[in-house]
Amino acid sequence: MILVTGATGNLGNATIDSLLEKGYSSTNIVALVRDAEKATELKNKRITIRIGDYNNYESLVTAFAGVEKLLLISGTDVVNRATQHGQVVKAAKEAGVKHIFYTSFERNNDTETSPIAFLGKSHIETEKLIKASGLKYTIFRNNLYLDALPMFFGEQVLTTGIFLPAGDTKSAFALRKDMADAIANVLTGKGHENKEYSLSNSENTSIQEIAQDLTEIIGKEINYVSPPQDVYVDALTKAGVPTEYIGMFAGFAEAIKQGEFAAETKDLENLLGRKPTTAKQYLAKVYAS
Ligand code: NAP
Repeated sequence: MILVTGATGNLGNATIDSLLEKGYSSTNIVALVRDAEKATELKNKRITIRIGDYNNYESLVTAFAGVEKLLLISGTDVVNRATQHGQVVKAAKEAGVKHIFYTSFERNNDTETSPIAFLGKSHIETEKLIKASGLKYTIFRNNLYLDALPMFFGEQVLTTGIFLPAGDTKSAFALRKDMADAIANVLTGKGHENKEYSLSNSENTSIQEIAQDLTEIIGKEINYVSPPQDVYVDALTKAGVPTEYIGMFAGFAEAIKQGEFAAETKDLENLLGRKPTTAKQYLAKVYAS
């Protein structure tokens, strides 16, 4: 039996769909959800629903009963996430789970000097906890989602162009559904014990190249401006963007610029058994019409 946490979220839900698309039986899939009202769609797919919250240890132990493989989709509470994940790992052990799979993040700088250390620290702590737990493990180093790019570009990107302090550095952004397909292959495959995989694209691309792709896709020049950080922060502040979002956008842009998401790996391609979706293919789907 495979339990998927974060099943009401994008990646968890997509992974369950990937398992079903592979022909894996819904009767062997358990979805952990913290709000039963959000689980209607999963119930319609005949997935077993168990209620649990990363903040509630007992709920986790109960929910994990009889589970052999547990996919821990990282949580969204960045401040408390390491503690929450610690509870999941402990509960997994207590419930007799055999193998834990964790969606971490791709990076090149593990230190406090990373512009996204505020997000990365809890992932790195979780990886250590998992490795020290004695459980069999598989860690996925998820690159930045291609699906997240439109959020960074803003709704008016086709009119205004791209304004992001991300420099010319290339990144291996990957599609969330490709990651889900790869994770489903690992969950149902063999030989993945105590392994780490980078879920990164086979092709690295810069934001400048993405602007060029967009230009070709829509048939109109899309400019890319990479301003200094302070100019960017000032522009977003004046536009009324909430402070926490500005910090997040600026941090990720700086991380792109510093090469945090650059990756020379074929792990994703190998796990998929096909080429991952390229940035241009994804952009064409989103922006062509
Ligand atoms: P998402 O759609 O926000 O899904 C997050 C899931 O975690 C939701 O199902 C949420 O439940 C669940 N969750 C959060 N706190 C929980 C708790 N205390 N107990 C139980 N479940 C909890 O995110 P996603 O797009 O699927 O991405 C998966 C994860 O990757 C995110 O949570 C985040 O850690 C990370 N992430 C990665 C990228 C990237 O570019 N690689 C981008 C964004 C996020 P509810 O539905 O009840 O809220």
